[in-house]
Amino acid sequence: MEPLLTEFTYRFIKELSLLLNDDIFIVFISLTAFHLTTTLGYFIYVSRASRKPWNLKISSDSYEPYISIIVPAYKETKVIGRKIENIANLYYPKHKLQVIIVGDPETINVAKNSVHMLYGMKVLLLEEKGRLGKAIALNYALKFTEGEIIATSDADAIWSPDTLKNAVKYFSDPIVAAVTGHEIISNASKNIHTYSEQLYRKTYYTMRLGESKIWSTMIFQGELALYRRSYLKHFESRPGYSDDTGTVIRLIKEGYRCIYIPEAKFADAAPPNLKDKIKLKSRRGQHLINVLTEALKYKIKGMFPLPVCIVVANFYMHVLAPIIQLTIPILLAVSLIRSTALVTSILLVAILATSMLNKNIRALAELYITSSLALSIALIRNIMGMKSTLWERIESMREI
Ligand code: GDP
Ligand code: MN
Repeated sequence: MEPLLTEFTYRFIKELSLLLNDDIFIVFISLTAFHLTTTLGYFIYVSRASRKPWNLKISSDSYEPYISIIVPAYKETKVIGRKIENIANLYYPKHKLQVIIVGDPETINVAKNSVHMLYGMKVLLLEEKGRLGKAIALNYALKFTEGEIIATSDADAIWSPDTLKNAVKYFSDPIVAAVTGHEIISNASKNIHTYSEQLYRKTYYTMRLGESKIWSTMIFQGELALYRRSYLKHFESRPGYSDDTGTVIRLIKEGYRCIYIPEAKFADAAPPNLKDKIKLKSRRGQHLINVLTEALKYKIKGMFPLPVCIVVANFYMHVLAPIIQLTIPILLAVSLIRSTALVTSILLVAILATSMLNKNIRALAELYITSSLALSIALIRNIMGMKSTLWERIESMREI
């Protein structure tokens, strides 16, 4: 046993010295070090900021503006009834709520069966003649809004009853133009794909909160987004831009703050299989890449009042890092093969296989692969000029 171990160690050290002379291995080490320092450095910076108090003038609970909730609902017959019931259960004075549902005739027809639950609120059902696309549908609905605050909510998202109340008080400071909230993954326990999404939320929201406390976050979620009507004017509807994040960077550029708050909660499902997960993440990624690139351009021109490190770090993490993350394991594999480092390879595979027994590490690995892959696909599609404002609904996320 012992001579074998000595031989193993001896070979390992020899391989290591060979590897350290390999150019590709050096590139691998440098790239990994660069990537880790950048992402961890940013995370530490925002996570510190996330624990600081808000520098906002938020008045007491008495601030209760009139709110218009817009629900864009294209072919959502399965979930629209549940969504209406959810709105009916919100803790907010009914006479201060207007609800506008905009969708295809079939969804609107189904919605009619549930609107009685919204008694006391102003309700408007708008039929779309042909599919408009989410952003254009929102702009159409916006024309009919009477609220001081406009809220948008996807048909498949369920708000917690105190969400509106919690979110709206931030608008008592006139610098605030928009507020987004905290997603709870309703099917987190289903499998590794949904579980990893929940695991990721913790890091994700620490970043959003830190950015918001520093000034603003550029990343909003259409499942729960509130806007001050007088600043909003219209939802961003250019092809390739999303209605939420696309609108938010315009508001930040105009000098307002757009913030994520942890106490405005909503639940929705994460895609429960690999194909749908990549599809969703790359579709959302395409929009995000466009918006973050635009923000970087504004920043370079001195037209964007968000600290440079937030703009650059988000651009790095969503546009460059995915490609780097895919390149890193390839570089390692190539250098191991080139140096015929057999013992090192066996050791690495053994470590990797053992750590995969841990559920959280498995989920992190899933996340690493799916997000790098999805965002790389998104980048390639954007470079190739594939833009779209219409998208296919992901059916597996509507199973209730
Ligand atoms: P995802 O969460 O990114 O997968 O996007 P969803 O498929 O959930 O769409 C977000 C919301 O926009 C849902 O409530 C959809 O019904 C709605 N939506 C998407 N396209 C259209 C459209 O063309 N018209 C309308 N009115 N709503 C749409
Ligand atoms: Mn959705």
